[in-house]
Amino acid sequence: MNLIPFIETAVAALNRNKSAELGDRTLYIGSSDVSGCARKVYLQKKNPKEPSVSTMLKFSRGHVAETLIENMFNAAGVGHLYETQVELQHPVYSSLKAHIDFLFNADFDGNPELHVIEVKSVSAIPDDPFPQWEDQLAFQLGLLRIKYPGEKIGGSILAIDLNAGKVHQFNGYEYNDAVFNYLYTRALYLLDCLEEKDEALPSASHTCSFCSYRSDCPAMTLPVVELPPEIEALASKYAKLNSTKNHAEKEMKSIRQELLDFTGPVFKGRSDKVGLVVSSVAPSMAVDAELLKNQFPNIYTGVLKGRAGYTKLECKPVKSVTA
Ligand code: SF4
Repeated sequence: MNLIPFIETAVAALNRNKSAELGDRTLYIGSSDVSGCARKVYLQKKNPKEPSVSTMLKFSRGHVAETLIENMFNAAGVGHLYETQVELQHPVYSSLKAHIDFLFNADFDGNPELHVIEVKSVSAIPDDPFPQWEDQLAFQLGLLRIKYPGEKIGGSILAIDLNAGKVHQFNGYEYNDAVFNYLYTRALYLLDCLEEKDEALPSASHTCSFCSYRSDCPAMTLPVVELPPEIEALASKYAKLNSTKNHAEKEMKSIRQELLDFTGPVFKGRSDKVGLVVSSVAPSMAVDAELLKNQFPNIYTGVLKGRAGYTKLECKPVKSVTA
């Protein structure tokens, strides 16, 4: 029984059902739109495309994370303290909306507040929350402030790495006038774009990873793409870890020699903390591919076999140029 074609159809149906819970997203600007790329928002609403199966599976991972959190909250007996998928609407521009994952009305630490929780499913928990997550939450807090002007309002982002079994709360967000005004202006700009009064410009971010409109996007045009800050941070971290690995390899090489000087070619020892075993691997023969190619070219071509290509990733610090 080949389940793959069925699963591909099923995940598309699940994705459509989940999207339907948020209404027809082509008809309004949501908080994730406000924090996202204008070009992507415009094309998603004017020329909707079904995401790839891989992207839809990643979206489903987000739904699974939300369900897991909800089950945990309910198991802990706080089901009566929150609502899910709470819709907020701007009082003047009704096509500006937000859907809150979890809205608590609770007093966990002596400070009763309306607390928004935005859940994000990730492959690795970032050191800092992505700017788009913070903007999305700030827009939700702004619409909440309009609806409940007298209440204490706060929010957090719950990042969950289901593979690693890790969860991290980026906490302490509050309503901020200046940030909300900026996002409100941006939402109006997006409305203008949809009404063809302004140009929907691309802005690259980590969300380009899931973008169905990437193939002809001017912001992703080679030879050199301007890195968005969160990708720059990830690449810098990768480069740093790689350099640590290279240093570690060099240090290991010299320690290895010191250890071998002590042990000789065959050794077995241990302490309370570490075991040390040295053994000899017998010499063996290997085919010299260069020699074979030069001396027996017919045989060489006869024994060649294909090797799958792979994606090579290089991150190196850029040396600053001084005049
Ligand atoms: S690839 Fe990135 S910058 Fe281009 S449209 Fe998609 S999200 Fe925007």
